[in-house]
Amino acid sequence: MNPHSPVDLHLHSTASDGMLEPAALVAHVAGCGVALMALTDHDTVDGVAAAAAAARAHGIGFVAGVELSACWRGRAIHVLGLAIDPTCAAIVRGLESQRAVRDARADRIAERLDAAGAPGTTALAGIRAAGSLPTRTHFARALVALGAAADVGAAFERWLGHGRPGAVRSDWPELAEATAWIVAAGGKAVIAHPMRYPLSAGARRELCAEFAAAGGRGVEVVTGGGSPRDREQAISLAVRCRLEGSVGSDFHDPAVPWNPPGRLAKLPASVRPVWLDPPFPVFGTDAQPA
Ligand code: AMP
Ligand code: MN
Ligand code: MN
Ligand code: MN
Repeated sequence: MNPHSPVDLHLHSTASDGMLEPAALVAHVAGCGVALMALTDHDTVDGVAAAAAAARAHGIGFVAGVELSACWRGRAIHVLGLAIDPTCAAIVRGLESQRAVRDARADRIAERLDAAGAPGTTALAGIRAAGSLPTRTHFARALVALGAAADVGAAFERWLGHGRPGAVRSDWPELAEATAWIVAAGGKAVIAHPMRYPLSAGARRELCAEFAAAGGRGVEVVTGGGSPRDREQAISLAVRCRLEGSVGSDFHDPAVPWNPPGRLAKLPASVRPVWLDPPFPVFGTDAQPA
C-alpha cells in the first residue's frame, strides 16, 4: 500500500450505531478514496464478514476491528481493537459479555427515560426490532422519531448526555481487561479519541502509561472532528508514552458533514503509524498491504 494513501481505521456500520449497512459503508469509504479501512462497531463484530467481502470486491485493504467500551478510574473509555481475529475465543467471550452489559443497560435507559417523561420503552421496542446492538445513539434517533427531541444533538442534551436520565452507569470491563481481549485476538489496542475524555493532562498521560503497560499499542492521534490543538496534544501524548498513532474519522452517518471517511490529516513523522509494523494482515481479503 502506498503510505500516502488515505487510511481510516474508525468507522461504524448498522451493526452498531452507523447509518450504512456494512457493504454500503465499504462502498462509501472506497468512493472517498480510502485505501485501508477498519470496521470498528461498538462492542460487536457482526458487520465484519459482510464488510470484508465488500472490501475485497472494491479492492481496498480491510482489517477487522471493534470499538470496546471500557472503564478507567470509573470513566467510560473507548478502546479500538484493530486487525483482530474476530473468531478468537477470548474476544468472542468478551463480546458476549459486552452484549449482555449493553442489553441490560438499554433496559435501564428505557426505564429511566420513562420515569423522566420520555417514551423510553417505546423507543427500545423499535431499537430491538431493528436488531443492532443498542447504543445511546439509537435511543437518540428513536426519541427524535417519537417527537421527544428536535434532533440527535438535542436528544443527547436533554435526555442522554452527561447528567441526564439516560446517562446510566454501566458495568464495562476495566481498561486492562478489554485490552487483553484485543491482544489475545492478535490485534492492536488503540485508545480512541483521547482528547474527548474530560481528564486533566496529567490523568491523560497516566491513562496512556497504564494502557501501554497493559499491552496497549497506540492512540488515535487524528480523529474526525478533532481540532488542530487536540491533534497537537494527542501527538505529544503518543510521543511521551511511546505509543503508535492511528487515524480514524469515527464516521457514522453520510448526512453528518463534519467527519467524512478518509479526509483526515496525516500523521507527523514523529509518530509511528499503527498499521505499518508489522503491516496489518488483511483478514477476509486476498489483498495484502505492501
Ligand atoms: P454508548 O456507547 O451507547 O454510550 O453511545 C455512545 C455513542 O453515542 C458515541 O459513540 C456517539 O456515536 C454517540 N454520541 C455521544 N454523545 C453524542 C452527542 N452529544 N451527539 C451525538 N452523538 C453522540
Ligand atoms: Mn457511536
Ligand atoms: Mn467512541
Ligand atoms: Mn466510534
